[in-house]
Amino acid sequence: MLKWERIAKDFMAVSVGKEYDGEPYYWTTFYYYKGLVIDTGCPHTAEESAKFMKDMNINIEAVLLTHYHEDHCGGAYLFRERFGAEVFASQKSMEILANPPEVPAYRQVVWGQPKPVKAKPLKEVIEFSGLAVKTFETPGHSFDGVSLLIEDYLFIGDLVTNPSPVIIMRDENLAETVNSLKMVLNLSFEKAYGGHGVWRKNDLAKVLENILDLKSNVEALHCMGLSIEQIVEKLFSKVPKKVVQMEVISKGEWSRRNLVKALLEMGQK
Ligand SMILES: [Zn+2]
Repeated sequence: MLKWERIAKDFMAVSVGKEYDGEPYYWTTFYYYKGLVIDTGCPHTAEESAKFMKDMNINIEAVLLTHYHEDHCGGAYLFRERFGAEVFASQKSMEILANPPEVPAYRQVVWGQPKPVKAKPLKEVIEFSGLAVKTFETPGHSFDGVSLLIEDYLFIGDLVTNPSPVIIMRDENLAETVNSLKMVLNLSFEKAYGGHGVWRKNDLAKVLENILDLKSNVEALHCMGLSIEQIVEKLFSKVPKKVVQMEVISKGEWSRRNLVKALLEMGQK
């Protein structure tokens, strides 16, 4: 499934998701800005995304990836094939993009297995037809995360996906997320565009505050002798059904437990 909106002249947000029973499993948004495509949606929607770009008669000069997750890099190989667009990503993403490991079964169903893509490393500043793209390393959600500043707009990938985190992936590093958010808050930008939402600077400051508040709460409960499971029960027992479903189908790769564990580990680093 695909839906799109024009944000400004030469600036579009395109949201894609694999359809299941008339609904997408999950929407992921990628962007088109003045000849550049920032992220590309998942492997399952690659054909749909490429067709949309062709139907819109859009010229794609380059594809820029914020991180290697399949819902962001999944269409890159096809944009390269159909439009001859060079793909750029963090130096840290090169290997995993070129040789993507087999993703777990549930991710193959929801997003699809990514195909290998040969990317070039982003530099601190890189120019495309006079348009400067500034790259900032923003790990946390993934080890290779970058944010891209193009004119007044910041593209942050999945650095932030929720106003206050409830569920995270097993290998997310919240101490790095906090540092990345602090760095990003020092940049000058109008809005931050992510794979799962658009954020004003104040929103990002609030997310940072929420993570630090949650860390204090979790640490206090841990000091009182509560186990990780008991803390999850105390803080996150009332959550949307989708959260619990995700924990079950991902066999814990996404979970509230990961979040509590990561918050406790932050204090130890
Ligand atoms: Zn991601």
